[in-house]
Amino acid sequence: MDVNYVSTRNKNEKVTASQAVLQGLAHDGGLFVPTSLPKFDKSFEELSEMTYQEVAYEVMKLLLTDYTKEELMHCINSAYDEKFDTEEIAPLVYADGAYYLELFHGKTIAFKDMALSILPHLMITAARKNNVKNDIVILTATSGDTGKAAMAGFADVEGTKIIVFYPKNGVSEIQERQMVTQTGDNTFVVGIHGNFDEAQTGVKKMFNDEALAKELDQAGYQFSSANSINIGRLVPQIVYYVYAYTRLLKEEKISSGEKINVTVPTGNFGNILAAFYGKKMGLPIDKLICASNENKVLYDFFESGCYDKNREFKLTNSPSMDILISSNLERLIYEIAGEDDTKNKAFMDSLQSEGKYEITAEMKEKLKDFYGNFADEAETKAEIKRVYDDTGYVLDTHTAVASYVYNKYKKESGDDKVTVIASTASPFKFTRSVMEAIGMDDPSKKDIELTDVLSEVSKVDLPGAIVEIKSAPVRHDTQCEVDEMPQVVKRFLNI
Ligand SMILES: *Cc1c(COP(=O)(O)O)cnc(C)c1O
Repeated sequence: MDVNYVSTRNKNEKVTASQAVLQGLAHDGGLFVPTSLPKFDKSFEELSEMTYQEVAYEVMKLLLTDYTKEELMHCINSAYDEKFDTEEIAPLVYADGAYYLELFHGKTIAFKDMALSILPHLMITAARKNNVKNDIVILTATSGDTGKAAMAGFADVEGTKIIVFYPKNGVSEIQERQMVTQTGDNTFVVGIHGNFDEAQTGVKKMFNDEALAKELDQAGYQFSSANSINIGRLVPQIVYYVYAYTRLLKEEKISSGEKINVTVPTGNFGNILAAFYGKKMGLPIDKLICASNENKVLYDFFESGCYDKNREFKLTNSPSMDILISSNLERLIYEIAGEDDTKNKAFMDSLQSEGKYEITAEMKEKLKDFYGNFADEAETKAEIKRVYDDTGYVLDTHTAVASYVYNKYKKESGDDKVTVIASTASPFKFTRSVMEAIGMDDPSKKDIELTDVLSEVSKVDLPGAIVEIKSAPVRHDTQCEVDEMPQVVKRFLNI
């Protein structure tokens, strides 16, 4: 059965999967959603005998139906190869009463690699299939991890350029260093004088700017997005939840059909939405536990039914979750509004004009699968220390937020189902915060130098990504104001 994609704001805008991947965002500013979510057509027992790559094919073929088997296999095998430092791609590690699904074994040691190592291949394949002659310009706003992972994926991919905007003072030293040392003649990095939401809004504006699109087209370019709104990122993220379930099954940690809970440290709502889609496709997930940091707009939403971004933006030690507009939530809103594009558009218009919207009681009723909570800065640090003291396993700050919220949920509810916690970054990516948390910080050392100490403490070898940036030269130093973003893009493209 063919699955097509429609805009959450206008169901009449309908495209194929490959067109949705190419376009990123719908023309009306809406997000593409699949017209149906097919059920898995292999049993989880069968899937448990497969490799990560084979599971990826079985999941992705259901949603990217206009890609041929050869095309999908090529994309999958080009993405999930030796770039990952383990053949398992996404290993499950048991510690402290839960299974941590380590999604940080790719090139940039954060979970964004899971999707961004395959997106460039899906996109180039899509361009070929749709006879696109223009070069693709990827515009990306990043709170730290997406930018690097996207550049690593797109660097030197023929027919593409990638421009990344990040909040100049809103990312960790190691994140910034990873970005400004990026190689590839087609990569561009800009630190903006503003926060992540301003970067994201600036990028969205450029996508919706028709005059700019025309100028680009004349010069032989067109924009696309590598942000988590692209279904080419969402679909590959469903894979690792299926994979995790099948590994639990294979290792007899669960029995056939047994439901598990999933806990996800959440920012833009992409990762947890993938788990939700997986559940709708038949993966036995009970609760979807949504963990936020002090920017707890999602927790408040699940509590009250009111999404309200009118609040102070906080910089936390889990910067990749410092987000007040969780873009992917729009797909859930559309879903619980009964796939009503008009209703969804009204909410999003209200978000645009008032900074908030309130869903109906009937819609709120449909959110029962979700549990939301948050961890503040002190709780996050205490969680890292507690898990380290008890088990020797070192969590990064984002995963610690999830771990804290999971334990809070477990205590509150008494629900002791087997639980998978999405472990979204290596602790080495946030070395300073992690070392502070376990009481081993050394302020006289730079973050990069501290990684050696962390390696000793955690008994984990330095990841390749860290070894690399220790010696890599800085290649990017552009900064700009938020309203200068379009000019900077034109300058990079010589138009
Ligand atoms: C991006 C990111 C998140 C948030 O994921 P979303 O899909 O945006 O909700 C959490 N942790 C880390 C380390 C990230 O890079």
